Amino acid sequence: MQEKIFVTQSSIAPLAEYINEIKDIWDNHHMTNMGPKHIKFQNELLNYLNVENVELFTNGHMALELSVQALNLQGEVITTPFTFASTTHAIVRNNLEPVFCDINEDDYTIDVSKIEKLITDKTCAIVPVHVYGNICDIEGIEYIAKKYGLKVIYDAAHAFGETYKGQGIGNFGDVSCFSFHATKVFNTIEGGAACYKNKQLGNALYELKNFGIHGPEEVRAVGANAKMNEFCAAMGLCNLRHIKEEIDKRKKAAERYYERLEGIKGIRLNVAQKDVEPNYAYLPVLFDERQFGATRETVFAELEKNDIYARKYFYPLTNTFSAFNGRYDVLKTPIALHISKHILTLPLYAELSMDTVDKICDIILGCKV
Ligand SMILES: *Cc1c(COP(=O)(O)O)cnc(C)c1O
Repeated sequence: MQEKIFVTQSSIAPLAEYINEIKDIWDNHHMTNMGPKHIKFQNELLNYLNVENVELFTNGHMALELSVQALNLQGEVITTPFTFASTTHAIVRNNLEPVFCDINEDDYTIDVSKIEKLITDKTCAIVPVHVYGNICDIEGIEYIAKKYGLKVIYDAAHAFGETYKGQGIGNFGDVSCFSFHATKVFNTIEGGAACYKNKQLGNALYELKNFGIHGPEEVRAVGANAKMNEFCAAMGLCNLRHIKEEIDKRKKAAERYYERLEGIKGIRLNVAQKDVEPNYAYLPVLFDERQFGATRETVFAELEKNDIYARKYFYPLTNTFSAFNGRYDVLKTPIALHISKHILTLPLYAELSMDTVDKICDIILGCKV
């Protein structure tokens, strides 16, 4: 039986290294609640991400949801539907109204030229997504946010370790949130972080991840439980030591895909962005069936027949989820709708072999008519 190839495979530090890292826990019995591993990992992340402040969470979603809560927002939030469920849910679960803006055709991030038309007197924030690690128009968003007094919360789940004009990507907006889920470029098994500048916001985040507890006899917010535990922090410490080589291996696999697929009629690959140091998180491919001769669905099915499981990230759009009972008009984001029906994310991870990349490319090219 041939090996199944999934869209990703979690990077994991050597077992001996992890065992060594968690040994202390048997001595100090500190398993969670901001113990020594939590604090050490937080400090190392500050360094790696090159940010002023970082707060750790149990997952990326809670980092995002509690960041929105910490900003005390009310009304409408401008965001995009071409993302993972988490982005939209973080808004809706805070009783805010998502207002969906369309995306750019070339990098799939929020189309900044369409934001101002969506602003009303109820608009309070923008939640843009650095989708696939493609960085949003940061200056454009900052300009609009300043002009209208809006908060900006970046969903940076895909952008771990990236830099823009030499600055860590967590430095932008009021908050930038990362995910350390097992499927991401960098993982802590499950985990997440919020980077911010305002110290008061930091205090709010710290309290919100621990039920809103301010002191032994005071609970001043309706918080959640979203603290990163010591075992996850320990995994973070180990995986962070290997992140450079992991990203480098991803880069090599990505380059092989580009060698094989670049310039093929009807296939569009993700384009490198100016001033951005990428992390090779994903390998999205856009199919134009009129030129390629086969649809995204055909390619997906053909790969599946060969035990290769590409993913239709991001299909369906979040504004079409049955959870929302048709509350949003998907025709207001036509480009996102089109992209979601034509894009396929190919397997990409550090241990992916060149042979497998070749096999995947052969299958894809074999679909071409
Ligand atoms: C993974 C992801 C999240 C949520 O992160 P978790 O750690 O899985 O909770 C949020 N937004 C996007 C775009 C993601 O891909």
